[in-house]
Amino acid sequence: MSVTDRLCDEIDARRDDLIALTQDLIRIPTLNPPGENYRDICVFLEKRLRASGFEVELVRAIGSPGDCEKYPRWNMVARREGSVAGECVHFNSHIDVVDVGLGWTVDPFGGVLKDGKIYGRGACDMKGGLAASIVAAEAFLAVCPDFAGAIEISGTADEESGGFGGVAYLAEKGYFTPERVQHVIIPEPLNKDRICLGHRGVWWAEIETFGEIAHGSMPFLGDCAVRHMGAVVSEMEDSLFPALALKRTDMPVVPEGAKQSTLNINSIHGGQAEGDADFTGLPSPCVPDSCRMIIDRRFLIEENIDDVQEEVMALLRTVEGRRETFRYNVQELHRVLPTMTEKSAPVVQVVARAIEATMGKEAQYVVSPGTYDQKHIDRIGKLKNCIAYGPGILDLAHKPDEYVGVDDMLDSAKVMGRSLIELLAKPGDAA
Ligand SMILES: [Zn+2]
Repeated sequence: MSVTDRLCDEIDARRDDLIALTQDLIRIPTLNPPGENYRDICVFLEKRLRASGFEVELVRAIGSPGDCEKYPRWNMVARREGSVAGECVHFNSHIDVVDVGLGWTVDPFGGVLKDGKIYGRGACDMKGGLAASIVAAEAFLAVCPDFAGAIEISGTADEESGGFGGVAYLAEKGYFTPERVQHVIIPEPLNKDRICLGHRGVWWAEIETFGEIAHGSMPFLGDCAVRHMGAVVSEMEDSLFPALALKRTDMPVVPEGAKQSTLNINSIHGGQAEGDADFTGLPSPCVPDSCRMIIDRRFLIEENIDDVQEEVMALLRTVEGRRETFRYNVQELHRVLPTMTEKSAPVVQVVARAIEATMGKEAQYVVSPGTYDQKHIDRIGKLKNCIAYGPGILDLAHKPDEYVGVDDMLDSAKVMGRSLIELLAKPGDAA
């Protein structure tokens, strides 16, 4: 019997363990914001991985955004060395989950198992992927105890809120350098037969228009900042949105609608603040002297962030040319450059072969419309050999009645385990 056949048998034999592990992880509610129970889940993972022979470190991202005594940003990094030197394969999963929201028909933190699916907030995004990577590594260790190199598994904080208290912090501390780690797999829910190579870029900015306050019965004595902002929106409709729709990318972004540049108007606030829900009075009559709009521009690897900014600045200058009293300010809030691992990168090739061997069909290559922790591994860690690959259906992430299929987790654990064999088994063992 070949080592891969033995690996697959080992994984199938761990079905109940994989289910129980996923349920246990779901039952620790690691809601972010605010960042609850990070320490508990890290201690749980530490216990599990120490029993499997890993050295485990718990790292608190002191001083990172949101880190405080009530909600400390804890991370878990586990490493198991092989018997001889070799490459290190790192599985990185985020431990946080987003708000539950409405519309659930099961307990979001119950870990309910029904018809081969495990339900719960984070089941698919991404505690199922974390559990699959742990079981894959343990099954690999059972068939190749004497391997070359090292396996690392991390559980990191705050991915859903930018990853600054998680992967970014660890990357700054040297946990993701090409010297320490050679291959990174992030088991985000991208569907079990797809390899995610990277993501589009992000530029968030706040545009503010200014006016002059006056009595609402004599608006001609003031200058309405909301009308100025209306002119900005109207110019966006006329020129910017059509221009963005024409910018197509060669990145294999899914879904199809995200294969172009996009812009979301995230919010507009102008004039008086709205009263509390229980306030029954009327507003006072005033001309708004300020209006603020937050834009969320997603850009392509073919675009340059300076051009992305200049496009908005040029639009504002156009509006300025048409409106005598138009005054504005633009402030950048957040930027992430696009990232995309080459298809020829070793981790891509190894996982593609493992998908084909496990699923009997060719791997699909995709790029995510939104960002995830790969940005920090690429930009801070300078590590290019990184992909997202994991079980779970992308469209279920952040939805009510989120679930992960048990068979999908087993299949993707086999893909991860086969990848470990190809990358870390010693020549004699891989036969
Ligand atoms: Zn995720």
